[in-house]
Amino acid sequence: MKPVGLVMDPRFEQHDTGPGHPERPERLQSIRHELQTTGLAGRTQAVPLTRCDEALIARVHDPEHIRRVENACAAGQHLLDSMDTAICRDSYEIARLAAGSLVGLCDAVARGELARGFAAVRPPGHHAERDLAMGFCLFNNVAIAARHLNQDKGFSRVLIVDWDVHHGNGTQHIFEEDPRVFYASIHQWPLYPGTGAQTERGSGAGEGTTLNCPLAPGSGDAEFLRAVREEIVPAAESFGPDFVLVSAGFDAHRADPLANLEVTTEAYGDATAALCGLADRRAGGRLVSVLEGGYDLDALAGSVARHVETLLDPRR
Ligand code: ZN
Repeated sequence: MKPVGLVMDPRFEQHDTGPGHPERPERLQSIRHELQTTGLAGRTQAVPLTRCDEALIARVHDPEHIRRVENACAAGQHLLDSMDTAICRDSYEIARLAAGSLVGLCDAVARGELARGFAAVRPPGHHAERDLAMGFCLFNNVAIAARHLNQDKGFSRVLIVDWDVHHGNGTQHIFEEDPRVFYASIHQWPLYPGTGAQTERGSGAGEGTTLNCPLAPGSGDAEFLRAVREEIVPAAESFGPDFVLVSAGFDAHRADPLANLEVTTEAYGDATAALCGLADRRAGGRLVSVLEGGYDLDALAGSVARHVETLLDPRR
């Protein structure tokens, strides 16, 4: 049986967002502690960190955006583009490591060396637009990986499932006219950033390859899993993905302070199993997930553990 890859490293804690910020280094400390004490980390294969080639970032971001992130960090700025997106001197390098390590994990799965994998990286990525940092995100990690799989690795039908409680505006916008990348999102509605209405279905050649599943505040496991099993999986079956990426935020959890859904730790295992089944049927099993949000430390750690446990044994 092929191993499951794991990107997890204290270096991602060097992205310092300052006191009181919800997207804080302790999120990863909490995940690392949980995966180590439960023995789950020991059952995975560690994936080495890789600094992302600028050329790969430039496929989804304006070169000017890349320079702005670099220069703002070098200048010691504390915020970039919006009041919620905090940076420090190290953030540019850490963001490049986050994107590059996810790409490295995807490459190992593409080569068949790993069965599946999870990247516990920060800063997160799905709110980052082509030319804008926003919502705690500098570079759009999952978009960079999807574009790389498209253009360099011959995967012509990449599925991105985004189950973070916030809509992944950046990812949707980057691919909304692209029929080679199917973007599907489950998110609370209404909620930040305000995009992700059911009527947003892609445009031009990409019409029909965007699927938004907004959930009302107070929705729980039943609604969350119904969206996965009855909306996303059937739509993805028709699309026929050859690689599955997951923007795995865990802030739909009932304990999360930033939103109002009631999803439990267990449901993240069930959702993971459903997507692994889809990947097995349609994509040669290839599935890679990357951390997005999740702001209650205990709920985050427990949910990530359930997610990784299911990646290790989807049919349990
Ligand atoms: Zn989120």
